[in-house]
Amino acid sequence: MTIQANPPAGSGAVERTAPDDTVTVTIDGIEVKVPKNSLAIRAAEQIGIQIPRFCDHPLLDPVGACRQCLVEVPDAGNGRGMPKPQASCTLTVADGMVIKTQVSSPVAEKAQHGNMEFLLINHPLDCPVCDKGGECPLQNQAMTNGGGESRFAETHGVKRTYPKPINISAEVLLDRERCILCARCTRFSEQIAGDPFIALIERGALQQVGIYEKEPFESYFSGNTIQICPVGALTSAAYRFRSRPFDLVSVPSVAEHDSSGAAIRIDYRRGKVMRRLSGDDPQVNEEWISDKDRFAFQYATTGDRLTHPMIREDGELRPASWPEAISFAGAKLAAARGNAGVLTGGRLTLEDAYAYSKFARVALGSNDIDFRARPHSAEEADFLAAAVAGTGLGTTFADLEKAGSVLFAGFEPEEEAPSVFLRVRKGVKTHGTKVFTLAAYGSRGIEKLDGVVVPASPGTEAAVLADLANTGEAGAAARAALGPDSIIIVGERLASVPGGYSTALRLALDTGAQLAWIPRRAGDRAALEAGCLPGLLPGGRLVSDPQARVDLQAAWGVEHLPAETGKDLTGILANAGGLGALVVAGVEIDDLPDPAAALAALEAAPFVVSFEVRNSQVTEFADVVFPVVPPVEKSGTFVNWEGRERPFPVVLKQPAAMPDVRALAALAQEMGTPLGFATPEGAKRELDELGRWDGDRAQEPGYHPAPPLGTFDSTRLATWRMLIDDSRACDGEPHLTATARTPVARISRTTAHRIGVADSDELVVSTDAGSVRLPVLITPMTDNVVWLPTNSADSHVRRSLHADHGSIVTIAGGNA
Ligand code: SF4
Ligand code: SF4
Repeated sequence: MTIQANPPAGSGAVERTAPDDTVTVTIDGIEVKVPKNSLAIRAAEQIGIQIPRFCDHPLLDPVGACRQCLVEVPDAGNGRGMPKPQASCTLTVADGMVIKTQVSSPVAEKAQHGNMEFLLINHPLDCPVCDKGGECPLQNQAMTNGGGESRFAETHGVKRTYPKPINISAEVLLDRERCILCARCTRFSEQIAGDPFIALIERGALQQVGIYEKEPFESYFSGNTIQICPVGALTSAAYRFRSRPFDLVSVPSVAEHDSSGAAIRIDYRRGKVMRRLSGDDPQVNEEWISDKDRFAFQYATTGDRLTHPMIREDGELRPASWPEAISFAGAKLAAARGNAGVLTGGRLTLEDAYAYSKFARVALGSNDIDFRARPHSAEEADFLAAAVAGTGLGTTFADLEKAGSVLFAGFEPEEEAPSVFLRVRKGVKTHGTKVFTLAAYGSRGIEKLDGVVVPASPGTEAAVLADLANTGEAGAAARAALGPDSIIIVGERLASVPGGYSTALRLALDTGAQLAWIPRRAGDRAALEAGCLPGLLPGGRLVSDPQARVDLQAAWGVEHLPAETGKDLTGILANAGGLGALVVAGVEIDDLPDPAAALAALEAAPFVVSFEVRNSQVTEFADVVFPVVPPVEKSGTFVNWEGRERPFPVVLKQPAAMPDVRALAALAQEMGTPLGFATPEGAKRELDELGRWDGDRAQEPGYHPAPPLGTFDSTRLATWRMLIDDSRACDGEPHLTATARTPVARISRTTAHRIGVADSDELVVSTDAGSVRLPVLITPMTDNVVWLPTNSADSHVRRSLHADHGSIVTIAGGNA
């Protein structure tokens, strides 16, 4: 029997192999054709033979460290035989090779038994108190492929012991005596994350996993080492000793912390999430997730969770029943019809966003709706309508991996979309993708991508893009690298730069490069598809297009939809006092361009309805509060930056709160304008039936000429958010927040010299609104620029300075 095998998992190959690219090998008597250069362990998998292994991982380079996968390669008379058992994870198959695994070879079986016995000599076998017990490859394979007895007795010597555990970081703990030296963690750190902070040190019996003394263990991906460790040597401070795998119920889901839509697995026990693991999705996040996706889930169970509706009476919020709150809010909102605004935030699913979009148009008769609870611009809205909304799956993770070059503008991959960072890094590692970034300085993430910084002071990104070839050596190299195999990635920060999006779009059209918009938050792409913008309806339909409105009127069964483009977030807040009502869902005030003005607007708005998971600055001003559920308690769909739908099921049931869709449906019903659905499934069905608009699309946004380049006398602020910062998403998980990077103010040596400060001195960054004080870190970067983290401890740029990327600020030494 000969079996034609598909390319092995993790080989990177995606197409069926051409016949002449294959070799034929015989494994346990079965002939199989596999791609040339396949590893024996992968070839065996193709015919369902599982060779025991610990160090082997399809996404890591083979290393042959643990020796558990030994197989016999007998002489078949063709010179392919080998005298001793071979590690099948490093053995490249050759045509005509005969391989015998433990299934058919006593030699292989004996070798595997011997190796297992050897591994267990120094192993503590403290399975009853070991976190890995019950899901431990060592435990499992000792049972399936180990000998029944060991020749080692404690009387022969003392097992190796170490002080335990040692903290590798605030989140990761190491019990060295359990380590079997498989080098999965060290290879992951070096090959995938680019953070070589764990290493195998010493030799022979003394070999162990250790950390570099001078380099702190700092990685946003450290949790992956815990997941791939085949024993209980690496554990997380958050989960250690909390549960047993056989007590957990596992549900596949999707991470809600960035726009990648990473596949995760949620493990819960007795109504409580105990841990989250990476899922396995080769198209999206492969087998890796960031520590934020893994550990930041306690926010949903903190003490400030809303559990019942509330109505403001005599200035105070009081508990109310759902029917009372629906009836009260419904009457007020109906009275405000035609003069109401809706602000939606980043936590919403596609179904939620569609419900808000339809609610705004049908129940409130308004196009005043905006999902961009962050700095934004009219140019951005035009760009999104023309180039992103309703375009479906565009640039993909696979495209990122094989791109010849990638240019980032207004986007910091490791901080804003870690899965994107990992995939670009894979491209850099496997075929030398060239990486360029328009930034004031090259972050650690960019360094790990071997990235080239095209220097751009904050606010000049458009001007630099417009004349890339003439902006110095780096710019010329970036421009020369752009072509059809390149990708320009624009982030939401480019909204702060006049001309940023239109210049990037023009550059993409001129060079043939793909253009991808990667927002920071999980719900943004879905909100765009659902029409949560003042000029956009669901499926990429334009409010200004009469045909699109007629199409939607017919589908929704309504006689009229508002025809005027509505107000955006800034317009809605500026006019809050004149609105009849304001509906706010999932908006964090500190994310807004001017938090103080936003709070004043909430105070000025005559009637505020808040849909929230937890108490927030918005609920403090609301007249009616509806408790809604976080993603773990509802089903729904995120649409990731690629435009790929990422559906997820309900994990936990929360009887006191509802999905946004259901609460909005009840409200719309009360107002006499039913939405036509009351569940996420119903909303999704209707949106799917509506489909993407196949009529005229939005025109390419008008070209906004970039302001000319020049030198600044004043200091400009460069800023972006760190992955782990003061976000409320990290609440309740102190081990995770302890891994946040220490906030510093970065300035160039020349700028430091100008104001007379040195490394570690305190720097005061001020505007009329206030100041931020942080230690200085002198950094190779553009002069007359100061970089601050946007929302980290002691550095709340929007709240304290009312400033944003590109703002003019004043800097001085702390003692000045
Ligand atoms: Fe037992 Fe596995 Fe833990 Fe070792 S690592 S003590 S075999 S559960
Ligand atoms: Fe392997 Fe775990 Fe030891 Fe790392 S700590 S070398 S992953 S056994």
